[in-house]
Amino acid sequence: MTDFEAPLRLHLDRDALVANWRALDACSGAARAGAAVKANAYGLGAREVVTRLRDAGCRDFFVAHWREAEAIADLLPPHSISVLNGIAPSDIAAARALGATPVLNTPEQLSHWRNAGGGRCHVMFDSGINRLGLAPQHLADGVLDGMDVDLLMSHLASADTDVAQNRAQLHAFIQAVSTVTAQRFSLCNSAGIMLGDDYHFDLTRPGISLYGGIARAGMEKWIKPVVRISARLLQVRDLPAGAMVGYNATYACPEETRVGTISIGYADGYMRAFSSKGRAWTDGLALPVIGRVSMDLVTLNLNASPDLREGDWVDIEYDLVAAAALTELSQYELLTNLGSRFERSWS
Ligand SMILES: *Cc1c(COP(=O)(O)O)cnc(C)c1O
Repeated sequence: MTDFEAPLRLHLDRDALVANWRALDACSGAARAGAAVKANAYGLGAREVVTRLRDAGCRDFFVAHWREAEAIADLLPPHSISVLNGIAPSDIAAARALGATPVLNTPEQLSHWRNAGGGRCHVMFDSGINRLGLAPQHLADGVLDGMDVDLLMSHLASADTDVAQNRAQLHAFIQAVSTVTAQRFSLCNSAGIMLGDDYHFDLTRPGISLYGGIARAGMEKWIKPVVRISARLLQVRDLPAGAMVGYNATYACPEETRVGTISIGYADGYMRAFSSKGRAWTDGLALPVIGRVSMDLVTLNLNASPDLREGDWVDIEYDLVAAAALTELSQYELLTNLGSRFERSWS
């Protein structure tokens, strides 16, 4: 706890989060939608996201690390949590005590799990992303015989684009489905859900679109933004034409300029790619970012709204599609970079 007001805020919209999950669940056809909540729910706050999606009816939550599972374990029945990045032998005892389900990715992990007593597990089949998971020849080895596999899953490499790889991965997965005994099957991330019923199986695993990300064009019509950013003006000053602003003097004021310095920087995830490109807003008036984004500070041209004063709050433009186009950062980076100094508040 703290007595101090954070000078930067992340405003998080519960209704938008829940509406996005419901819409993705509906788009998943006969399959149920789970939720990827790894990386602190893509920067939004895993505990808050899990609580809200759990209350909305979500039953399957995916994290990458065991420590991430531990951090939400008191909020959920243990079997609702799945750990994507597999399991190291040194973590098996703690993992079994925690009760979350490992996603076993390699023959070594399968045998460690079996030797530790086995029990409910998930298995990742690598259908072509060539990153994590069992290869087709591993399945032929009968390596899963006698294992209690809840979910056989795979992950699409290019579902955000229309390429032949999607169908190729679907066919590879269908092959795996026909040879493996599992309770349920799962292939799709957010973008994959849009590829149609063939891809849905029993469970989908959206992440980015829960949080307002537009995984494929067209989704902007029904995916709602969840995140809004605001920051406090720490100082306002008037500079003459020709004055230089920020590190390395990358910006020279073309005219007399009222400059406001706000409390956000690249350490908060507002990356240097926004330098002299990003914008803030107040009452519908645009306030361009001028000069370099620094670690803790950003400078704005306030000429459009000269009444702004030290202590006032402005909104930072953070439309994920537009910001991604502006900065060449991915929508994933734009969310997961958001740091720990924000006051996160849920409406
Ligand atoms: C991160 C992840 C997801 C969610 O992907 P999005 O593109 O964010 O929807 C689903 N499945 C796996 C295996 C993942 O690693």
